[in-house]
Amino acid sequence: MVKDGVSVWEDCLQFIRGQVGEQSFKTWFEPIKPISLVDHVLTIQVPSQFFYEYLEEHYVHVLRQVIFNELGPEGRLEYSVIVDSGSVRNQPYVVTLPNQNQNKWDKKGASDPTISNPFEMPSLEAESRYSNLNPNYDFDNYIEGDCNRLARSAGLAVAQKPGVTSFNPLMIYGGVGLGKTHLVQAIGNRVSNDNKNNFVLYVSSEKFTTQFTDAIKNNSIQSFTNFYLQVDTLLIDDVQFFAGKEKTQEMFFHIFNHLHQNGRQIVMSSDRPPRDLKGLQDRLLSRFKWGLTADLQMPDFETRMAIISRKMQSDGIFIPDDVVEYLAYSVDTNVRELEGVLISLIAHATLNKTDINLELAKQTLKNIVHDIESEVGVDYIQKTVGEYFQISVEDLKDKTRKKEIVIARQVAMYLCKEYTNHSLKSIGYHFGGRDHSTVIHAVQSVNDMMEYDSKFAHQIEELKKKMRMKSV
Ligand code: ADP
Ligand code: MG
Repeated sequence: MVKDGVSVWEDCLQFIRGQVGEQSFKTWFEPIKPISLVDHVLTIQVPSQFFYEYLEEHYVHVLRQVIFNELGPEGRLEYSVIVDSGSVRNQPYVVTLPNQNQNKWDKKGASDPTISNPFEMPSLEAESRYSNLNPNYDFDNYIEGDCNRLARSAGLAVAQKPGVTSFNPLMIYGGVGLGKTHLVQAIGNRVSNDNKNNFVLYVSSEKFTTQFTDAIKNNSIQSFTNFYLQVDTLLIDDVQFFAGKEKTQEMFFHIFNHLHQNGRQIVMSSDRPPRDLKGLQDRLLSRFKWGLTADLQMPDFETRMAIISRKMQSDGIFIPDDVVEYLAYSVDTNVRELEGVLISLIAHATLNKTDINLELAKQTLKNIVHDIESEVGVDYIQKTVGEYFQISVEDLKDKTRKKEIVIARQVAMYLCKEYTNHSLKSIGYHFGGRDHSTVIHAVQSVNDMMEYDSKFAHQIEELKKKMRMKSV
């Protein structure tokens, strides 16, 4: 460790502290460690790739400025990024920040090699031999139900005739663990199996972003673009990740247009509908809506039974019917969680050398689901109702009068009345200080709606089930 590096960095910090807020300073600058200062190059260590990207995205100007101030026009900053253990390489690698005279996005400017010890990413060419497809995800093991009928059949149509149907792009959205990746991959597998000449590529938006940032650093934007323009079927997962990443969106927009114009197929997934994708440019959003947008919901009870049975069958494990039923009944958050419970159950049975039976299933589920809180309280109800209707707890307590929020709020109040010992006054208090008549009105409204809206009544039943599960 060169002593100068430390004092230079200390001076930098002083300047930075004055430029960014205290909170940002603590979060983003305090964890940085100066490593060395050699020939006007200051190397700092940051805890992760994400950290580095965040700094580069948000503080590049401050950093350039401060390096200029401290080290003059020749000064440069290098990052040493600690790669998480378990990932490709457990050694720090170093990338440098383009020096202050360069425009980050200017290809000519960036022609000065800015990578001193580049992280060995598989090259895009090498990657083209792989489609990143996981053969375990196919249509046969993607159980159909009301929850996914449209998305699944559109997916199948696309898979049979990529680029030809009007479902281009096909945009699939749904909450976490509801089968987006599975479906997107199933499309890719089908296309790739049926048509060997079709270059299928599955990529997460996160990976696309990383590749793009690397391409900028490596001055290889051209090969990045060329690579993507060759793809025949582009499957791009979790596009909500593009939010706020302007440059990546621009690049994706360009690729999207080119592929689309040339009749290539694009399939995307997102954890929310396009209209709720904040931080995405309008022109990109409008493209997303060109084809078909189809959603995935939580499978209903019967579909959950079918999913469990199918899993058991493919794993060669027997589970008695009453246990299948119990699990399907109890786990109604998402499919991934359902699978998680199944795996725990099998693990418990194997470790304890016992059969899988209802008793064990109850025990296992209790451990998983009930280890945080064991009683139904206002907090639990607000959290559960919020998750169920995809509304934040803050909104439930807030004054917002948007219809969905008002209904969710009334449902939460109704459940508090049913499942807790709180007085009407106390319930009102927990919902942003409303008075008891609001709570009475909420209970009344929910009762009324249950009478004439069977879908709503069903939702309340599901929520009540969660309450009962919690209080056993
Ligand atoms: P997402 O990408 O939406 O978060 P995944 O596609 O990773 O969700 O799905 C989570 C798990 O649930 C995966 O193991 C997937 O195989 C399984 N799964 C989801 N939906 C279904 C379904 N309809 N039939 C069978 N398995 C499913
Ligand atoms: Mg996924």
